[in-house]
Amino acid sequence: MNFQKFDIENCGINVISKDLALRYNLIPYKMDESNIYLFVSSKLSKEIIEEIEFITSRNVRENFLDEISILNLIKFYYNKESLKKNITKLKSKKQIEKSNMNFIDIHTKKDDSPAVFILNSIIKEAITKNASDIHIEPFKNSVLVRIRINGDLIKIEEFPIEIYENIIYRIKILASMDISIKNNPQDGKIRFKFNGEEFDLRISSLPIIYGEKFVIRILYKNNMKYSLENIGFENEDVKTIRKVLKANSGMILLTGPTGSGKTTTLYSMILEMDRDRKNIVTVENPIEYEIEKVNQVNINPNIGLTFSKSLRNILRQDPDVIMVGEIIDEEAAQIAITASLTGHLILSTMHCNDTSSSIIRLIDMNVPKYLVVDSVGLVISQRLVKKLCNNCKKTYMATKEEVKDLEIENEEMLFSAVGCDKCNYTGYDGRVMVYELVLIQDSHKNIIMNYDDINELRKYSFNDKGNSLKEKLKKLVLKGETTYEQYIGNLKLNYMSKRG
Ligand SMILES: [Zn+2]
Repeated sequence: MNFQKFDIENCGINVISKDLALRYNLIPYKMDESNIYLFVSSKLSKEIIEEIEFITSRNVRENFLDEISILNLIKFYYNKESLKKNITKLKSKKQIEKSNMNFIDIHTKKDDSPAVFILNSIIKEAITKNASDIHIEPFKNSVLVRIRINGDLIKIEEFPIEIYENIIYRIKILASMDISIKNNPQDGKIRFKFNGEEFDLRISSLPIIYGEKFVIRILYKNNMKYSLENIGFENEDVKTIRKVLKANSGMILLTGPTGSGKTTTLYSMILEMDRDRKNIVTVENPIEYEIEKVNQVNINPNIGLTFSKSLRNILRQDPDVIMVGEIIDEEAAQIAITASLTGHLILSTMHCNDTSSSIIRLIDMNVPKYLVVDSVGLVISQRLVKKLCNNCKKTYMATKEEVKDLEIENEEMLFSAVGCDKCNYTGYDGRVMVYELVLIQDSHKNIIMNYDDINELRKYSFNDKGNSLKEKLKKLVLKGETTYEQYIGNLKLNYMSKRG
């Protein structure tokens, strides 16, 4: 359920108690001078309506929603109300005990301790909203809590700086971090249970000007999220990928910028495999998602455990499939290619623009052309493109520059992002994967082997017309599903200059 679709916060939550909401399975979602609007799962009786009209001094307007959704909304929004109360409680407590302040009441494991409650609420809200990270940042007078949803940071809380120490203490204890260290970055882990599911939280701290900043990465374990179909591959392409995944050797390469969903695609490929019968090893930095029956290695360049070194060690352990988080240098490229030609299936990513540039990059990394064509079987270049919010997008006439860049007619109408309460005022709602997929065939191999000038290869598109990343992005813009800005942003990456 997408909670952002409802405008519930501060609308009538204060006039209807949680008890009442639970008793009749209802939740207010809007209130004006004369009406209170409620989500109900079944029609309310005359008596109940009278009771609520008496309590709220407003006319009841009913709207139907299923019982479970209402229950979730009650849990979520009344929890937020308690969060506010707990922040106030903790702050007043701090003021009373300021002179003799020694981390009041967070030594207790009791769930009603305000710091415990506040931290729990923040994490639960982030998980409910499907956030990937939580940022807790201290400033001069307040602490800002933001969560990353669909790639954007969104503020969910701001609380007084006075209570921050309690929160930090709580995080550090839970994450087995050293509470006495405040001037150095630290890492930790928390196992968090919520709604019957277990989540792995990876914590990192960083000393900044007004204290320690914490970033909590949430690792979701729900396998259902990661199947080739539901991350956005078309049926025909799913078939192709499955066929290649059955191979005992060769290389599958995923390309795209940071945050384009490459890792998710790699994970969904691994979930396709027979993990009981195959020895699957991953080398990642960092591990983003735990997979059962897969040996996952977190590389740590600080202690000399690099991609290349880990790969060499892994190869001694008789692996069938190796997922290499990213091929970043010549050494890693050469080990990976060699491994893929000696009875191992290698899955990896590269930070490249499109499918052909990944081939060019491998050649640039001094991998001989004949090894590249023997090894690489499938290349996918992907992006996560922001989808326009249907509630607020607006049409406009394409400008001259847009007409030129999109290669379209002069009079074409496009859509722009506006922003409304349904999309957190971003103008966008959710993301969609856009990709080009190339199964390397003899015709491609001939071209790779026979070109004289690398620019010749660069110009060559491995894709049939209409299936390239550019064409697919263009279609989305013309259908009004995304903007020109997203089209340009996802084509021009400028990553080369960043990476040198
Ligand atoms: Zn909107």
